[in-house]
Amino acid sequence: TPSQHDTDIHQLDEATVARIAAGEVVERPASAVKELVENSLDADADSVDVTVEAGGTELIRVADDGRGMSEADLRAAVREHTTSKIEGLEDLESGVATLGFRGEALHTIGSVSRLTIRSRPRESEGAGTELVYEGGDVTSVEPTGCPEGTTVEIEELFYNTPARRKFLKTTATEFSHVNRVVTRYALANPDVAVTLTHDGREVFSTTGQGDLQAAVLAVYGREVASAMIPVDADGDDLPPGPLESVSGLVSHPETNRSSRDYLATYVNGRAVTADAVREGIMGAYGTQLGGDRYPFVTLFLEVPGDAVDVNVHPRKREVRFDDDDAVRRQVDAAVESALLEHGLLRSRAPRG
Ligand code: ADP
Ligand code: MG
Repeated sequence: TPSQHDTDIHQLDEATVARIAAGEVVERPASAVKELVENSLDADADSVDVTVEAGGTELIRVADDGRGMSEADLRAAVREHTTSKIEGLEDLESGVATLGFRGEALHTIGSVSRLTIRSRPRESEGAGTELVYEGGDVTSVEPTGCPEGTTVEIEELFYNTPARRKFLKTTATEFSHVNRVVTRYALANPDVAVTLTHDGREVFSTTGQGDLQAAVLAVYGREVASAMIPVDADGDDLPPGPLESVSGLVSHPETNRSSRDYLATYVNGRAVTADAVREGIMGAYGTQLGGDRYPFVTLFLEVPGDAVDVNVHPRKREVRFDDDDAVRRQVDAAVESALLEHGLLRSRAPRG
């Protein structure tokens, strides 16, 4: 008689499943940093300190002063598919206001690293809690003295998935990804004090009391900050298309770099990249930029929620619009009029 022993097909154990899933959520240290910083912002933090060692391969520490977690919260937070951010499908349909909501980051990161979380709820009496989660198991939960808020430490990412660890690039490359991620959140949240430290050296620190210009100054330095001009287009300023507004800062054409890393673009507050947006920006600068040179750009686009889907995949930074051509024209027009207003473009023939 047929029984379950007559087949080679079997269910994988939970630890294996989590480890495989981790590869989808966490590609490299920068993706873990992104998840932790998003959690801190979702927790309403006023300050977020990011510390990494060896490009994040040895240590990632994100400390916030957000709302914090109780012991029960901590135990729940590292379980599979646990989130405090949505209840179910209805919430997804009506649009998600938080950055996270899939409830898998801590669980999956903890399955491929040694994860330590120390947390104390805001305005709570008494000690906080330290939870250690190692390779997918909670190995200790203890009371600990700690400030209000949450500190998450990831040590030795991918220690138990050697193939993936081997795939990591040099410290410098991994750190450049971390830097780009933290920079993007710092620029989008000038009201949060964001600090980034690498191998004991402070890379930047925003005050959390400034506007976008102040954040750009803190992150990129004086030379770049003084070369930025405002973009502020909405309504009739824009050609027809899905974008309701385009605003932010763009650099003088002569302040440029040979990397796209400095094109920080956001759709409805989320850091994303989109070909149409990049092409619109580059179109506005036209021949003012040499080949393969890119300006410094921090640009916020607002679109009605149904014209774009940015929630498809946790790693997804790339978005597509229903009407890419219109988006390209709108971004081009917004940036071009800002550059023209500041006399930064040689006149060019009007396009049809
Ligand atoms: P998600 O962010 O999708 O909900 P995570 O695995 O990233 O899933 O986090 C699980 C839960 O742990 C969150 O929903 C939140 O309740 C809690 N949490 C995680 N990080 C923090 C933090 N820094 N401060 C407060 N709560 C946190
Ligand atoms: Mg999260």
